[in-house]
Amino acid sequence: MTENSPVTPLSGPTVPDPHHSRYAARTTAMVPSEIRDLFAANGNPDVISLAAGMPELGALPLDTLSAQVAQIVANDGLTALQYGPAQGLPPLREQICDVMALEGIRAHPDDVVVTVGSQMGLDLVTRLFCDPGDVVVAEGPSYLGALGSFAAYQAQVVQVPMDGHGLVPEGLRAALRQARETGRRVKLLYTIPNFHNPTGVTLAVERRAEILELCRAHGVLVIEDNPYGLLGFNGQTYPALHSLDPDNVVHLGTFSKTLAPGLRVGWVLAPPTVREKLVLATETATLCPPTLSQTVVSHYLGAHDWQGQIKIFRENYQERRDAMLRALKAHLPPGCTWTRPDGGFYVWVTVPEGVDTRALLPRALAAGVAYASGTGFSVDGSGHRHLRLSYCYPTPERIREGVRRLASVLESEGERARPAAGAVTPHHGQGRSRTA
Ligand code: PMP
Repeated sequence: MTENSPVTPLSGPTVPDPHHSRYAARTTAMVPSEIRDLFAANGNPDVISLAAGMPELGALPLDTLSAQVAQIVANDGLTALQYGPAQGLPPLREQICDVMALEGIRAHPDDVVVTVGSQMGLDLVTRLFCDPGDVVVAEGPSYLGALGSFAAYQAQVVQVPMDGHGLVPEGLRAALRQARETGRRVKLLYTIPNFHNPTGVTLAVERRAEILELCRAHGVLVIEDNPYGLLGFNGQTYPALHSLDPDNVVHLGTFSKTLAPGLRVGWVLAPPTVREKLVLATETATLCPPTLSQTVVSHYLGAHDWQGQIKIFRENYQERRDAMLRALKAHLPPGCTWTRPDGGFYVWVTVPEGVDTRALLPRALAAGVAYASGTGFSVDGSGHRHLRLSYCYPTPERIREGVRRLASVLESEGERARPAAGAVTPHHGQGRSRTA
């Protein structure tokens, strides 16, 4: 960057930054995520956003929640509006253990640290473990908020291929071996085992022990990020990595997808020594997680059929997933393939060779549809032949129309690209495609 290095403001034209020379070295790695601007498309009624992973909250019992909030403020306002313990409210930490038990985790509330969403958990864990240059291994592709945290702490991310059954253990083994041979220190494996963001793929149960074993053997701590684990469409859950190796797995959870992201309540479950450091890190980051939000979540879990509510969410998402898969099958041009998620929010599409999803995005927006280009989910700028579609937020009707628009943009791009790129692979609608 030069002295007058430009910054990209949240909106409007690029301006010179007079503070440029003052920033810490790590600040240069903080760049806007590729999909941040696409959130703006949400406010534009002419654009159907299949880009943002916002939960659909229409099914929330707002009357119940508002009565609960009013009651909390009226009856317990002097504590609910006060600072609280840095680790989070004890009753909520107990309830979080009940939530995690659904995925086979046997935890003690003392080992739970409440955070401001799981994003803060990611940030704190990275802060605790990563010096500049340390290696974090992650799936390729991976959640861009996590890649942002790793970049902010100047960690080096190595992405390992996935297939239709999640992270490929052989790829992990090769990455760990290569890091060792080149003298680099791998600190963390960051993984989203269930209904992965951005691919929608779930890590096969048979692979879980092998991956944990590899990490143990190489002295690598596993960060299990699990926002979608309870959103399997048939209600099925998978054994959490934490349940298989509690001493070497830090588990991140959140109420963002099973209740409401605006409450900003998530958590970290960590081995006791790590948990102690996490509490110290929380104190310097926020003093304590928001007491009112925690109280609201705790009352909600105590007084409401929260599992029944999750089932309603799951059914809504399943209906939307079905609408998207049907529309993709009906409309996408030959040569496109996509994953078939059994839960969560996302479908990962692979487009024919010669089509560049990043370059195509302005044309898609002009045609009235937004998606997240695959390039945002990799650290090496690859992913041009992929895009992420979110079915969580728009209605099935909007999803169908959005996919129709996307298909016509891809169709015309395919026609332009074909003479240069040669023939495209003629397999169509093959779910569970390789995602690397
Ligand atoms: N991890 C993953 C994989 C996610 O998809 C998200 C949200 N999209 C988060 C973490 C952060 O969620 P929150 O901070 O709202 O809990």
